[in-house]
Amino acid sequence: MSTVADVIVVGGGPAGVAAAVELRRRGVKHVTIVDREPHLGGATRHCSHSPFGMREFGRLYFGAAYGRRLERAAAAAGVEVLTGHSVVSLGEQGALTVTSPRGVDMMSAKRVVIATGARETPRSARFISGDRPVGVITTGTLQSYAAFHGLMPFRRPLIVGSELVSYSALLTCLAHGARPVAMVEPNPYALARAPFTWLPRLAGIPFHCGAELIDIVGQNRVEAAKIRLENGTVQTLACDGVLLTGCFTPESALLLRSLQGVAPGSAGPAIDQDGRMQNPAYFAGGNVLRAVETAGWSFREGRRVGAAVAEDLARGTAGEAPVTVGFDSPIKLVVPGLLRRNGLATPAFQDFQLRFERRVRGCLSLELNGREVWSRKALWLPERRILVPIPPAAFKAGSVHFRFTEES
Ligand SMILES: Cc1cc2nc3c(=O)[nH]c(=O)nc-3n(C[C@H](O)[C@H](O)[C@H](O)COP(=O)(O)OP(=O)(O)OC[C@H]3O[C@@H](n4cnc5c(N)ncnc54)[C@H](O)[C@@H]3O)c2cc1C
Repeated sequence: MSTVADVIVVGGGPAGVAAAVELRRRGVKHVTIVDREPHLGGATRHCSHSPFGMREFGRLYFGAAYGRRLERAAAAAGVEVLTGHSVVSLGEQGALTVTSPRGVDMMSAKRVVIATGARETPRSARFISGDRPVGVITTGTLQSYAAFHGLMPFRRPLIVGSELVSYSALLTCLAHGARPVAMVEPNPYALARAPFTWLPRLAGIPFHCGAELIDIVGQNRVEAAKIRLENGTVQTLACDGVLLTGCFTPESALLLRSLQGVAPGSAGPAIDQDGRMQNPAYFAGGNVLRAVETAGWSFREGRRVGAAVAEDLARGTAGEAPVTVGFDSPIKLVVPGLLRRNGLATPAFQDFQLRFERRVRGCLSLELNGREVWSRKALWLPERRILVPIPPAAFKAGSVHFRFTEES
């Protein structure tokens, strides 16, 4: 064992840094962050735009400066930082296998916090047909090229998607002299809210909702993309790149390789109200729980999970076996997906976070032991955060279930 810590935090983005700093603030002695990148900051490091940091640091930062601010916060709090180290397996009792240019090491801790974030879905997992030319990338890759290498891989890309990150992609293109030929969203409506949705039109870029990318053409580089519009007509757009934005999924490869597994729906680890997984030595926070939230949200979540881990170390027992929170389709996910009787005095999660798979109108309700305790009728939109307060009685219930009745 090269390192034996009180707590190891895997991932040094906003959630991981906030958890580590909070642990130190609460007197936990040996806290180590392990991150595979050369610097802390996570996904914020390559964002050349604002806004970041208002609620956690009281001022606005651009993404890269916010990443550096996180790095300073970790150093000031006395957190040990191991960058350039990848955690490749999670063992029982907090034993981790870590690789670095020095080779393979074993590390262990009394508690481990997983804060590995989320990533956009690449082409291979979207089943987009056509040629396989250079120039089909995600926003994260584009922003890394631009921020770390001063490279802009295309001048006239097609942007696919209309989540918040899609507008971040559009701004990155415009800021680096590229002019997208169009933005397309397969749903009949934009996924982000106004005023973001006004951006393409303000920039004079065609924005097609209900339009699908059906083919990519190009031998070496992208030469064109075929899209099917909402009315069924097929258009061929000359372009030199395809920018696949959003469709985030938790970075949970590590969990899939371990006994921990992932929760159905969120594809991240199942946690209880304290951020604790089934294995009581492991906790999680930030975007690995559910794609995808803002940096500020992930930071605050990480801080609360850090506080819970500190309390747990002082208490020393895990509480009883958890109850799994059930949910009906088209609810996509519920976090926390586990509830434990005898959890910590101050739960890290006061609300259930829900997402829907698709746009749907109807009644969402929460049942404890088969009895309805909360309900609301609304039009529910995909990729929008829905919060339902966790009633104290839920921690003692034998069954907890979210029902959905769709209105025709
Ligand atoms: C293109 C883009 C634009 C965005 N724009 C904004 C914005 O304007 N405002 C805003 O508030 N938010 C924005 N966000 C969202 C914000 O970046 C995230 O919400 C935030 O970074 C999530 O924090 P996190 O700590 O959960 O995960 P991340 O920031 O993703 O950090 C996870 C860390 O874990 C590390 N890691 C993963 N696996 C391992 C492993 N096995 N071993 C070691 N380390 C590992 C990664 O290297 C990474 O550093 C944007 C995101 C993207 C992708």
